[in-house]
Amino acid sequence: MSTTLRLLILEDEPLDAELVVHMLEEAGYRCQWERVETEETFLNRLNEPTYDLVLADYRLPAFDGLTALKLFNKRSLNIPYIIVSGTLGEELAIESLKAGATDYVLKQRLERLGPVVQRALREKEEQERRRQAEDDLRKLSQAVKQSPASIVITDRDGAIEYVNPKFTEVTGYTLDEVVGENPRVLKGDHTTAEEYERLWQTITAGNEWRGEFHNKRKDGTFFWESASISAIKNAEGVITHFLAVKEDITERKRIEEQARQQERLASIGQLAAGIAHDFNNILAVISLYSDLLAGQALSADGRRQAQVISQQSKRAADLIQQILDFSRRAVLERASMEMSYLIKELMKMWQRTLPDNIRLSFDYGSDTYGLYADSTRMQQMLMNLIINARDAMPDGGELKIGLERRRIEECSDDAPLSVPVGEWVRLTVTDTGVGIEPALIPHLYEPFFTTKSPGKGTGLGLAQIYGIVKQHEGHIEVESIVGQGTTFTIYLPALSGSTGLENRIETETILGNQETILVVEDNETTRQALLDSLDVLNYEGVAAANGREALEILVKRSDEFALILCDQSMPEMSGEALLATLNEQKIAVPFVLVSSYVPEADMIRLRKMGMVNWLSKPLKLQALSDMLAESLRNG
Ligand code: ADP
Repeated sequence: MSTTLRLLILEDEPLDAELVVHMLEEAGYRCQWERVETEETFLNRLNEPTYDLVLADYRLPAFDGLTALKLFNKRSLNIPYIIVSGTLGEELAIESLKAGATDYVLKQRLERLGPVVQRALREKEEQERRRQAEDDLRKLSQAVKQSPASIVITDRDGAIEYVNPKFTEVTGYTLDEVVGENPRVLKGDHTTAEEYERLWQTITAGNEWRGEFHNKRKDGTFFWESASISAIKNAEGVITHFLAVKEDITERKRIEEQARQQERLASIGQLAAGIAHDFNNILAVISLYSDLLAGQALSADGRRQAQVISQQSKRAADLIQQILDFSRRAVLERASMEMSYLIKELMKMWQRTLPDNIRLSFDYGSDTYGLYADSTRMQQMLMNLIINARDAMPDGGELKIGLERRRIEECSDDAPLSVPVGEWVRLTVTDTGVGIEPALIPHLYEPFFTTKSPGKGTGLGLAQIYGIVKQHEGHIEVESIVGQGTTFTIYLPALSGSTGLENRIETETILGNQETILVVEDNETTRQALLDSLDVLNYEGVAAANGREALEILVKRSDEFALILCDQSMPEMSGEALLATLNEQKIAVPFVLVSSYVPEADMIRLRKMGMVNWLSKPLKLQALSDMLAESLRNG
């Protein structure tokens, strides 16, 4: 044994101290020692405790052994304290052991010192090891208890022995309620018995199983978990337990599903937009000619028929508008508007038209609910929601409209995850109707998805709402309980400050003064329809079949034209390209673009390029007359 012992010796007799050291060296210890004899020096040394052992005499001239021991104990140093004394009666020996001395050795029997020290040091080492193990265990147990993952430990037969607090938080079951149960008590609808079988085979073979569970909480609601399950083996490699570490992934799944749904809707939207675009061109012609026809001197039958064509083409135009809205291709006319004014205005109409057995209410506070939005689209969105609520309550019920301002803060508990941080106007439409089956919810916003009987629903209402909300950078959510009712919640970015609602006033058809208008349109039928319409509105129309032709005419005689009415999508040269060329050649004639769809960003660019106005397809005589009057007045 050649361990170096760092010794503190409390002893007034230097020779005795040397003797003690000598005995220890005899026992094989190398000693590094210091002798102290007063209370002050003793305590001073203990302040820097780098000793392995304290050897203390019991009777000192200025200091007594029991006081020294008590002072030493106060330091909780975990160093063996051995009393080495010439005279120590049995009573004192017992008292000092009670007071915490590790052992005692009589000076007359110093040969015992070696073994006593050896035992004391061994005990100290063991004590430390035990403390370390207890510490480790406590840490481990805290980690399991405070783990953000659910932890389940089962015996070899799969009976639960332990679940941590997170498990209780996620499932609602306490440890007492599940001890002895199989984890299958949580089984939901989408995890099959075969899957459990596979899992069991994997883990009993000593392998790790990773996968997802569809589980049911104590309260009957469902959730998804991702889990890793493996065997716990003893030192001999025999499986004694199984350990499952699980994470609640319900929210992640919901967000993934939402993203998938958005992608699906975006691709349907693209397809729908293409179809709507072509139909728009056809409708433009039907609509214009039927308007023209209805205004002519016809027989009573003829006028009625022309009116039917006109009405039907308007209905078709509305359908197309719904599809364009859904595919977010509607041209928005955004302005500051106050949502509460719009709803109050519409309430008057709804109160008149909804069945008496539907109680309608509108709940809003004293805030302002300003939006930068297209009020016509907002009106459409509200109408669709109200119609759906009405249809969901064939026997009557309550229809509540709510308006709130909501600030979504980062990490706020009630923040719906899909709505980003910011200031929002939150609209809710709640009914006490039939509700919606959970399985149908992912399909609600798909165009043509309807549960209504043919002729009753087109399945475009919610698709249109979805597109309108998205085009206004908003979010829509639905909550529904079958048999109890449904709430649609819409978040739209709030404007700061108050706004005035812009009211649109229907105007009379304004006729022109024989101003000359250049019509640039590649589709011959549409071109002719436009020329005919201009004629009716008392304008002089000049036709160009494409951008090149238009340019030839304008280079020679641009002065003659009061305005250019130009289609956007033409094969050779688009409307925008023509406008750019006119700018280059410094030909300044008021330019109006005709298009079914102009994205917001393009609109800003086109306005900068000098476009004075735009006209949406399908064309309507009233809109054409209004637009021409406005453009010529401003132009
Ligand atoms: P439509 O009303 O023409 O069927 P929508 O797109 O507006 O088309 O609605 C699609 C479907 O969503 C409806 O057929 C209906 O099943 C369901 N739905 C919409 N709103 C509600 C509601 N408030 N309550 C119950 N079901 C609803």
